Amino acid sequence: MKYIPEPFRIKSVEPLRMLTREERVQKIKEANYNVFALNSDDVYIDLLTDSGTNAMSNAQWAGVMNGDESYAGATSYRNVVATARDIFGMEYIQPVHQGRAAEKVLLPILLEGKKYAISNMHFDTTRGHVVLAGCIPVDCVVPEALDTQLRAPFKGNMDVERLEKLINEFGKENVGVIIMTVTNNSAGGQPVSIENIRKTRAIADKYGIPMMIDAARYAENAYFIKQREPEFKNATIKEIVAETFKYGDMFTMSAKKDAIVNMGGLIGMRSKKIYDLVKQRCISFEGFVTYGGLSGRDLEALAIGLKEGIDESYLQYRIGQMEYLAARLDEAGIAYQSPVGGHAVFVDAAKMFPNMPWYEYPGQALTVELYIEAGIRGCDIGSYMMDRHPVTREEQRAEFEFTRLAIPRRVYTQAHLDIIADALIAIKERANEVKGYKIIEEAPILRHFTAKLEAL
Ligand SMILES: *Cc1c(COP(=O)(O)O)cnc(C)c1O
Repeated sequence: MKYIPEPFRIKSVEPLRMLTREERVQKIKEANYNVFALNSDDVYIDLLTDSGTNAMSNAQWAGVMNGDESYAGATSYRNVVATARDIFGMEYIQPVHQGRAAEKVLLPILLEGKKYAISNMHFDTTRGHVVLAGCIPVDCVVPEALDTQLRAPFKGNMDVERLEKLINEFGKENVGVIIMTVTNNSAGGQPVSIENIRKTRAIADKYGIPMMIDAARYAENAYFIKQREPEFKNATIKEIVAETFKYGDMFTMSAKKDAIVNMGGLIGMRSKKIYDLVKQRCISFEGFVTYGGLSGRDLEALAIGLKEGIDESYLQYRIGQMEYLAARLDEAGIAYQSPVGGHAVFVDAAKMFPNMPWYEYPGQALTVELYIEAGIRGCDIGSYMMDRHPVTREEQRAEFEFTRLAIPRRVYTQAHLDIIADALIAIKERANEVKGYKIIEEAPILRHFTAKLEAL
């Protein structure tokens, strides 16, 4: 497959160091086989996350210098608001320091006196904030999402029939919000179609429930729509983003993804009443309304990044990187959540190690092997990441055993992608020698960040 060339040249570089294989074996052992305990300078290619790991442009770095650090009324704040209004078409825009801050500020307002939030799939922090607001988060993704080998164009979609059934079952007065996550991160960065967004909106209207967009990957989702939904094949990315947000009453956004900054977030909404409440909560939790927990320089870089994120040549290159890596895995017969999503390749570790039981954590075993093989840091999205059952304390089996390789924006080259593919191929060749893991120390919740493991 042809690699789409970078629509930029490189002005500033950050040196990388490749340890020897012996050193890597030693480092991962010292880290108790937990990649979160590795030092970043012992990692050669860091695919732990695409969040906040973006490379900013020369224009954004110039914006950092131009940032207005005034406490109130800063020009950088006004630039963010004007740009976000223009792109997302919502009147009220509140900057915050990251995506979960947007959730913390907004969700309790929507969920007051309610019992449920329903989403195509809640991201972990969104799920957490729904629970903290005293409600139950319910996922309602289309069943295609669960079959990694089924190549459907919009595996991130809401299951609209089931959504309507759930609303009737729960009682419409008990559902505080319908959350549409674009792209659907937890299902593997899979896109959601405009057709599906329109149908979901119609149900929201029918039952009088607000619809919120979890908009971290607004631009990647729009690019997939342009490629895969015939109605939009001649539309610009900006037009598709506008069409997407037209159906939302409000949105939360982690700007650390498609807005190509290292820190930032946004809340957008149409209702003045909700905005007045958001401002109050923002002042308590984040900071005054015109900075929302960010420095002026962060706001300025964000205003520029929001526009760079919807540049079509950039998105073609960006999604092209995913498709290039995925095509190399196809050639080698390595299974992943396919077609590949917008920000990461989710390698199907259960298929890589067919004889390894789920409770020996195949996704984590592949993560460790990738570090040993080539200094690559991915992460487990599987039964290792899954916490124990809150009541019985038994191990729980996840729906998938993935090793996620998240690709930072504008950071790595084609040669790096080839190293990743070659490493996976080398591991596949010795797959029957790879051993599973057991946990020897773990926290009661979110254990995967700090657990200690032992090779079996
Ligand atoms: C990253 C992310 C969030 C949370 O944002 P943070 O900036 O990490 O706090 C929420 N929803 C989705 C879909 C995300 O990808």
